[in-house]
Amino acid sequence: PVVPALPFADGRTIPQLGYGVFKVEPDIAADVTSQALAAGYRHLDTARIYRNEEGVGRAIAESGIPREELFVTTKLWDDAHAFDDAIAACEASLERLGLEYVDLYLIHWAAPSQGQYVEAWKALIALQERGLVRSIGVSNFPAAQLTEIIEATGVTPVIHQIELHPYFPQRELRALHAEHGILTESWGPLGQGKSDLLENGTVTEIAAAHEASPAQVVLAWHLAHGIVTIPKSVTPSRIVENLAAVELTLTAEEVAALDALGREDGRGGTDPATK
Ligand code: NAD
Repeated sequence: PVVPALPFADGRTIPQLGYGVFKVEPDIAADVTSQALAAGYRHLDTARIYRNEEGVGRAIAESGIPREELFVTTKLWDDAHAFDDAIAACEASLERLGLEYVDLYLIHWAAPSQGQYVEAWKALIALQERGLVRSIGVSNFPAAQLTEIIEATGVTPVIHQIELHPYFPQRELRALHAEHGILTESWGPLGQGKSDLLENGTVTEIAAAHEASPAQVVLAWHLAHGIVTIPKSVTPSRIVENLAAVELTLTAEEVAALDALGREDGRGGTDPATK
């Protein structure tokens, strides 16, 4: 499958569909990541807190795929927002991954109550200047904190990774991103198995019409909206199935029907404002 590359405001690009490894146990991380690379994924999304950077790095090394063909994201955990801690945390992630640089480094959560997200953002700017990370972005930032780091530094994140799926479409943040030239990246794109999203009648009817799976329909909805997405699976057939969603094009009516599934209480995970 040919995965489109979307442009960042910093001149680089990101493959629109990647492979996420949240809750992938460390002992199987190398194996499932190898399966994803063999299936054709070239974008991997991990984090320090997932405890599987080593396995992801091993799969990358064993794949023999040229480094420049891969796009690797990792994230700064909440305990390392202080400037020097953030620099050290990135260096430690690179060490575990066995990489000279990551393509994208994200602040994992703004954690407003800690009050150190501006300092953490300054550290990411320094890491980019030092060449340890190619592009810098954030994850789980309420609108107020997103605006604040931009105003405090004059540097805009290229991407914002947030919980987003048809039940929780995040219209306000997407509009704010569009104003600032920030790409939207969806985590939990399939609803993390926490709701009946993949059994929803609208989703299953569209799936039947295309002889596609419900997961593919949901992923095609993300792609139709220009959202970068990183579905996770440890099941070989689903790893392949999720990537093949790039070949499914929904009609405008189907996209609109899925848009209509959005709910006020559709959030499945933590509200970033409360952390
Ligand atoms: P997801 O929405 O990708 O759901 C994954 C689950 O959906 C799987 O465990 C499986 O149960 C099911 N599934 C996957 N493929 C399927 C298919 N084809 N058919 C039926 N069911 C299927 O949730 P996620 O893993 O939480 O999110 C994706 C990635 O986003 C993560 O792996 C991680 O990289 C990232 N993430 C980031 C944050 C953050 O705070 N920045 C939080 C959560 C996840």
